[in-house]
Amino acid sequence: MRTHYCGQLTAKHIGQEITLTGWVHRRRDHGGVIFLDVRDVKGRVQVVFDPDREQSFATADKVRNEYVIAIKGLVRARPEGTVNSELATGAVEVLGKEIEVLNAAMTPPFPLDDYSPVGEDVRLKYRFLDLRRQEMQEKLVLRSRITTSIRRSLEQQGFLDIETPILTRATPEGARDYLVPSRTHQGEFFALPQSPQLFKQLLMVSGFDRYYQIARCFRDEDLRADRQPEFTQIDIETSFLDEEGVMQIAETMIRELFEQVLSVDLGQFPRMPFSEAMESYGSDKPDLRIPLKLVTVDDLMLAVDFKVFSAPAADAKGRVAALLLPGGAELSRKQIDDYTKFVGIYGAKGLAYIKVNDVSDLENGLQSPIVKFLGAEVCQQLIQRLGANNGDLIFFGADKTSVVNESLGALRCKLGADLDLYQSQWAPLWVVDFPMFEADEKGRLAALHHPFTAPSCSTSELQANAAGALSRAYDMVLNGTELGGGSVRIHDEKMQQVVFDLLGISSAEQEEKFGFLLNALRYGAPPHAGLAFGLDRLVMLMTGATSIREVIAFPKTQSAACVMTEAPGEVSNAQLQELHIRVRKPVAAE
Ligand code: ASP
Repeated sequence: MRTHYCGQLTAKHIGQEITLTGWVHRRRDHGGVIFLDVRDVKGRVQVVFDPDREQSFATADKVRNEYVIAIKGLVRARPEGTVNSELATGAVEVLGKEIEVLNAAMTPPFPLDDYSPVGEDVRLKYRFLDLRRQEMQEKLVLRSRITTSIRRSLEQQGFLDIETPILTRATPEGARDYLVPSRTHQGEFFALPQSPQLFKQLLMVSGFDRYYQIARCFRDEDLRADRQPEFTQIDIETSFLDEEGVMQIAETMIRELFEQVLSVDLGQFPRMPFSEAMESYGSDKPDLRIPLKLVTVDDLMLAVDFKVFSAPAADAKGRVAALLLPGGAELSRKQIDDYTKFVGIYGAKGLAYIKVNDVSDLENGLQSPIVKFLGAEVCQQLIQRLGANNGDLIFFGADKTSVVNESLGALRCKLGADLDLYQSQWAPLWVVDFPMFEADEKGRLAALHHPFTAPSCSTSELQANAAGALSRAYDMVLNGTELGGGSVRIHDEKMQQVVFDLLGISSAEQEEKFGFLLNALRYGAPPHAGLAFGLDRLVMLMTGATSIREVIAFPKTQSAACVMTEAPGEVSNAQLQELHIRVRKPVAAE
């Protein structure tokens, strides 16, 4: 229908007769001349209609925003003084000769030609219109460029794109499964994949060597955080490579991606052991753009006359840590109160602090209600360990280790954002040497990654000290966000059984749930390793979006529903009967 895209007209088209198609972005009537801004996926251009061409003028007069039109016209330079440098096509305009309305449009529920503070629920209900907005178009275009770059990079590195099933058995990635009832197997259910994990491992057993897939994954989690019940992973698996080999491939892929799409050189990614990440940043995904660090001061606080500090310092499961904020003595009482409330979200019962006014005068130079409990000697050592200077502020966390890490870790990021402490725009790193398991209150072990992750020790060492064992897992972190992670896998059947045993999975359950995997491991499974990246989060970071919903064409709401299609929805009794399902209506809330 068209000869050119609206958004691609430039001065080199001046003098050409062209045909455009698109939507009326905006219509202006300027004393007898009608201006239509016409928009398509490439951008927009201004079209002018003079009254000389009566019929087209009359049509142009009638069209409204979002009408779909086709226009024949002549590209010409904009008159002197009317060039719009903000617009890619701003040097030219089209003199409209013919106009045809291809389809009319109702007035949109929110303007598409201008910013309007419309609620997300309305945007999601009319997502097909929301996506017409330039900002959203740009994000989805970038998303497509990102997947293209990734595919190219992986194909160049010898990877094959292989699809794995959506109707399958549970894959344990730590979330609830989405279940699909089977019609042909009464009372039985498929699970949607939480990831293609087991299938990609089986592909290695089949000899495919280098697999990738841009795969949809499903996890039925509470959507407190910025998560989606279905999301996309760049899923990768390789044979005969160890962690070094896989990390190299993944790092190359991400580096090339940033170069190609954002012209950013991420450089070599540093490595950090999990223990250091927790100790210095309170997080296994440290934001290294921010220079602040948590410093352990347990040893200094053991003997102080202040239970709030001395008790956790003496407790093996407790921690006292300090966070030095250079220049922080300028914070107001109100700001400190707000930060105290903020750390409360993470379970901290308070936020002790010392304002360092004069390091040479420990008697009067330190301003804080707690200084008197600490004593001059501890204060002196503290100042020294932290390298505190006049004008600095020291925050403290003292509690269970997990509470201290979470609260001070979050405070560190909040201070970074509030006070703009960022030292670089991008800070990637690998976190390595994760523990194999985490233990609950009762000492029961759960896999920190998934149960197919190889430990960095032998089976006997693992059995002797499971809680202390490290795994061969690695996470890629960018700006405090986990971009992806993976591991060297267990390829030895015995080791896999030992890990299942340690996780409290009985032999019967092992056979029932993972029999096919154990079986495959008996038939010549090669050493293999892989990882997966969260595509939505990656696109979100690269587009600067504030939520993953902004980079997914049709996302779900926080309550895991689609307001546009109204899914999930009820189904007919006939369908339920076929599926052998009887629905018990929820009891009405009292
Ligand atoms: N399957 C893992 C996940 O979804 C990634 C991996 O280990 O490759 O997190």
